[in-house]
Amino acid sequence: MSEPCYDLHCHSSQSDGILRPAELLSRAKSQGVTTLALTDHDTISGLPEATVQAELEGIDLITGVEFSCLWYGRNIHVLALNFDASHSAIQALTELQLQRRIERSEVIASKLEKLGFIGILQAAQAKADGAIIGRPHFAQAMIDTGKVKDVAHAFKQFLGAGKVGDVKLQWPDFDDVTQACSAAGGQAVLAHPLKYKMTRTKLCSMIDDFKESGGQGIEVVSGLQTPQQTGDMARLANKYELLASCGSDFHAPSGYNADLGQISALPQSVEPIWQQWSV
Ligand code: AMP
Ligand code: MN
Ligand code: MN
Ligand code: MN
Repeated sequence: MSEPCYDLHCHSSQSDGILRPAELLSRAKSQGVTTLALTDHDTISGLPEATVQAELEGIDLITGVEFSCLWYGRNIHVLALNFDASHSAIQALTELQLQRRIERSEVIASKLEKLGFIGILQAAQAKADGAIIGRPHFAQAMIDTGKVKDVAHAFKQFLGAGKVGDVKLQWPDFDDVTQACSAAGGQAVLAHPLKYKMTRTKLCSMIDDFKESGGQGIEVVSGLQTPQQTGDMARLANKYELLASCGSDFHAPSGYNADLGQISALPQSVEPIWQQWSV
């Protein structure tokens, strides 16, 4: 028996990841992951393929999705974990998010067209190639024009927070996501709290609202972080009585994110979210 290794946050080619769901499961296996949640942005379309491969690899697959939310004008990510994927509440919300992403892509494209990126919508759609469309697909299409050097520059100049392509549209608030999640028997987890670059006061206020909305967990470990950051997030989990989750947020084998399973263990002081899953 291998040591249990939980990775509850990663992306496949069904959103902005590089690997197909089956390839992701194979890599997870070789990385020593024993329980994986595939958490594509706003879609569960990778689940059937992932389920088949999880069975072949002997990995416990947990249902997952990373929802884009809005909190006082800020784009916040909430993971839904371990829900019934056939439940109408999850089906309805993912369908709505798909439509929102399609509409958002048209708005982003019209803004970028004005800056000279002609035909960018079709180019970004080609990059998405059937995946749910997101800003990384625009970044890749922009690189092909030769006007931007790499993905980091595309975000820094055009797509990142506060830039012209940072279209947040009508993302749902916490309530919409936590309600759909709990209706489907799952748990809502605040993703990568350190990524929002908020002041401590703002971060605590946001976590407070999330908890108030019915949020049940927080990512205490997200990708590569220092022991100090982990300790800090563990304190927040305990302060707000939230269950602890951990995930690599893996997107690509040679990306700047951690590899699958390459994350530090949760501190003893927190209650892991999977303790609620065992009977
Ligand atoms: P979207 O889901 O369309 O809102 O796009 C957000 C995604 O873009 C995130 O999940 C990341 O994968 C990616 N992303 C955000 N900021 C950056 C950045 N500075 N460089 C590269 N990728 C980024
Ligand atoms: Mn992403
Ligand atoms: Mn995220
Ligand atoms: Mn993610």
